[in-house]
Amino acid sequence: MAKYIFVTGGVVSSVGKGIAAASIGRILKSRGITVTIQKLDPYLNVDPGTMSPYQHGEVFVTIDGCETDLDLGHYERFIDVELTRVSNVTSGEIYSSVIAKERRGDFLGGTTQVVPHVTNEIKMRMHRVAEESKAEVILVEVGGTVGDIEGQPFLEAIRQMRNDVGRNNVLYIHVTYLPYIYATQELKTKPTQHSVRELRGVGIQPDVILCRSDFPVADDIKAKIALFCDVKPAAVIPLVTTNNIYEVPIILDESALPEIIIEELRLHPASKDLAEWRALIRKMNAPKEQLALAIVGKYVQLQDAYISVREALRHAGIFLQRDVKLSWVSAEDLERDGWEHALSSVSGIVVPGGFGNRGIEGMIRAAQYAREREVPYLGLCLGMQIMVIEYARNVLGLRDANSTEFDPESPHPVIDLMPGQRAVQGKGGTMRLGNYPCELEAGSIAGEAYGQPQVVERHRHRYEFNNAYRAAMAGAGLRASGTSPDNKLVEIAEIKGHPFMLGTQFHPEFNSRPNRPHPLFHSFVGVAKGVIREGGQPPLPLS
Ligand code: GLN
Repeated sequence: MAKYIFVTGGVVSSVGKGIAAASIGRILKSRGITVTIQKLDPYLNVDPGTMSPYQHGEVFVTIDGCETDLDLGHYERFIDVELTRVSNVTSGEIYSSVIAKERRGDFLGGTTQVVPHVTNEIKMRMHRVAEESKAEVILVEVGGTVGDIEGQPFLEAIRQMRNDVGRNNVLYIHVTYLPYIYATQELKTKPTQHSVRELRGVGIQPDVILCRSDFPVADDIKAKIALFCDVKPAAVIPLVTTNNIYEVPIILDESALPEIIIEELRLHPASKDLAEWRALIRKMNAPKEQLALAIVGKYVQLQDAYISVREALRHAGIFLQRDVKLSWVSAEDLERDGWEHALSSVSGIVVPGGFGNRGIEGMIRAAQYAREREVPYLGLCLGMQIMVIEYARNVLGLRDANSTEFDPESPHPVIDLMPGQRAVQGKGGTMRLGNYPCELEAGSIAGEAYGQPQVVERHRHRYEFNNAYRAAMAGAGLRASGTSPDNKLVEIAEIKGHPFMLGTQFHPEFNSRPNRPHPLFHSFVGVAKGVIREGGQPPLPLS
């Protein structure tokens, strides 16, 4: 029987509940315990694929093509696993399924209700992830904060699980936040007390309280929380803000948390070995030369929109002894005159994924700049399409070349809707999603970087390189160095003679790990490392 650790949040959101859950996963894995993880998102969208990054940050794509919460990215990076669609559950998905069952007549004669129909549906998902993964421990993170209206059925479901699977098989961890009052210079526990009271109101008594705080938590504060929230003093675990999120597994490993989990769930750890992770942190924290890179995108004010890209660049930096300093450049700013200084001191430019018209011309200017000045360029999905449009316009002389996503009337639609997408009506979950194989051209930059003839990467797009322009582009120096095995889809494009100008139709960032940087990011950062620009200083972002 699988054991469950439920992670809930209190006081405020965005305190790093996902990172805490992911870190617990890494700690258990380091003890030889098999673990998997699931995120329950109470919003009514079936998946986050239709939400703006302003609402939700990055959409993380699983190998089996599910558009999911960005916490799954943290889970994959920390625990070093590949998750599937069973690891993300939303209210939208739960309610759709319950209503479909009702229409089919599964509940004939009865009233369909939140308890038991919705809660049973949620619990079924928790059992499914256990069955599919065969893991000993299932970590389940409930999105949002205790008290949210949408979260109620999820809390009720996790409450019921304690009776369903047995008390010794369930542990509740509540992550809260201790605000600091500057005037009196003290950390306050009252919001934590209230949030635990709220949790107890739905019948859940937390076993552990993880206290996020920007300041060290003194023993008297811990004792107070233990007393008011009715947990053992040792089970009040402070988690003070750290500059490096990858240190969280080590911080928690040094607390009483691992012992509490092992004892309460009666686990039998084979060993304890965070040695590899510790070595990684030492490598990360070792002083390094800085490397300035720019990310040119639409959502640069909100770095969560490109979180896997940021992490993948950082991972490559660890292995190449560079402290990657990112300059977040708004693509729209590059559409104005006098923008060039925004890129004048970076050693590499990344144009990440995206949708819609806004900022496109600025991204094209960034690609032109990178090509003409031989600044390393990495294009990810949209960034690859941008690179192709720029080349068509400025090297092939196809004025007004564009993607039909941005200009349906373009005389030169070098990027066009995929044939399979033409009949698609709905927006949710209808892109080309998830893993597809890609064959690499021997001797190309991509071929050299990967060092193997075929790879599998994750996708999320509707548009593609238009094959009608492939021969002309290749003749002019932009080659398709990665294609689908049937050679119908261009998966990687690169420019001959440039030190590194490469774009991928897929999202390599999802496959990067702190201990295993992605080959293309490694190769990009490796070339960027040798590029000295003006002043040698990281530029300030324009906005
Ligand atoms: N908008 C482009 C497409 O749909 C690129 C998508 C992306 O960058 N994820 O093809």
